[in-house]
Amino acid sequence: MAMKVERAAPPREDRLEAGTAFCGTCMELRERLGRPDGGCFNQANRSFGQSFGCQFTLSLAMLNTLRNTVVIVHGPVGCGFWSVGGAGATRTMKRLRDPAQGSTVQISTNLDESDVISGGEKKLREAVIRADREFRPEAIVVAATCVPAIIGDDVDKILDEMQNDVSADLVAVNCEGFKTKLMATAYDAVYNGVLKDLSRKRIEREKLTVPDKLDDLLRNYKNSHTVNVFNVGSMGRPDELELARLLNALELNVNFLPCFASPGDFRKVLDAALNVSICGTHDDYYVKHIHDEYGIPYIIDTMPIGRKGTARWLLNIARHFNIEEEAKLLIEKEDAALNEALEPYRAVLKGKRAYVSGGEMRIFVTAELVKDLGMEIACLKSHHIDHFVEPVMEDLEISGDTYIDIASQHPFEQANLIRRLKPDVILMHTGGGNITAKHGLPVLPLFNPGNNYMGYSGAFEIAYRLKRVISNSQYNKNIQRFRPLPYRESWYEKEVFSYIKES
Ligand code: SF4
Repeated sequence: MAMKVERAAPPREDRLEAGTAFCGTCMELRERLGRPDGGCFNQANRSFGQSFGCQFTLSLAMLNTLRNTVVIVHGPVGCGFWSVGGAGATRTMKRLRDPAQGSTVQISTNLDESDVISGGEKKLREAVIRADREFRPEAIVVAATCVPAIIGDDVDKILDEMQNDVSADLVAVNCEGFKTKLMATAYDAVYNGVLKDLSRKRIEREKLTVPDKLDDLLRNYKNSHTVNVFNVGSMGRPDELELARLLNALELNVNFLPCFASPGDFRKVLDAALNVSICGTHDDYYVKHIHDEYGIPYIIDTMPIGRKGTARWLLNIARHFNIEEEAKLLIEKEDAALNEALEPYRAVLKGKRAYVSGGEMRIFVTAELVKDLGMEIACLKSHHIDHFVEPVMEDLEISGDTYIDIASQHPFEQANLIRRLKPDVILMHTGGGNITAKHGLPVLPLFNPGNNYMGYSGAFEIAYRLKRVISNSQYNKNIQRFRPLPYRESWYEKEVFSYIKES
């Protein structure tokens, strides 16, 4: 039976028993994940926390990528701050999909103290009408912050009442930040809005058209060789082109969504034989629902980063279409070419120790790639942990004694770990770049939508850029000299994980 789509997605602490506080080695983590109670990760906590991300911000990052869409931030104007920093990159990525695209259009209802008393409904209605009349988008997405959730604005009901007054599809995304400590709940919140208000409306509309038999036959044939690849906001067009190149070589067609898609593309979810996730953390809420409701199978396994990850990702897809032998030939050819190209880089990178920090899936596959380049892993740090990481951990060839810190931000723990473990290079989620630069070490962003990280060409690009940052880290040394980290010596003398409270 299909998973029921409620008004809002539940927090991942409840749905997946995910956790944000763990200290220990990879071996200990693996043992905890294997326990029948799921390791009770979501019971652990910190007695002190420096910062953690807000799911609203990550929802906005994903929503801003949608083409032909206006996003309404229903809340105080400050909640939309992230959009300013990401506007340039988002516009560029949209234009790489469709050169006619403009910038992200975002409207804030700018709720203030008096709205907290009298309610935000009037402002929301005005914003929806203005978005529809002025920009004529295909969809208007209302992203609801903490304030409407606290004062009780029923965004779904308001949009339902307004739907017949506007031409755009109205979508409610309930993603208030206070609801969860797990930023990744944002993906579920966005998909919840898409399932409630976008996929359903588009599919219902399609049913009204009279099918043509020949069209149907052609479409069915094409669909049987088509894969929906669920992209992530941290990857850009270069990654998509590399993955499309590999899948096209296996004579498969590819649709990329949800990021940088237009609302109409969510109808195309049904025009495919298989849904494939790029990152296990991202898509299970959506692809499981599409499977249960419409019968389309899905794969959630590893990320196509590094030789091992890419081969495993491709073979999973090939197995579904019964073309494993063709995939093995392709992998062999790509592997040989990449191996040869990496040799000069391995000579320079051999023995260097890396600190890898970011999303759970990405850090493990990147660690695998770093090992393939002859480097060592000094430490890993992940925003959160859940069972999606298990297949990736199975494959990992790093030492079981390697430390892993599960921490949504909390850069004070990172500072202590880096001082103790003395890595040579940091591979880091871009969001932590400001404070990370103060360590005085070379830093390679763990992702950057403008660069290629995935597939075989991505592995080469990472090696090339790692060599470059390691060869010259003078810039970060200068930052460390003139803008040192803010922590006292007494913190570095303390045990790194002293504030973690086990369940
Ligand atoms: S936690 Fe709430 S108030 Fe703060 S930015 Fe996130 S949505 Fe806005």
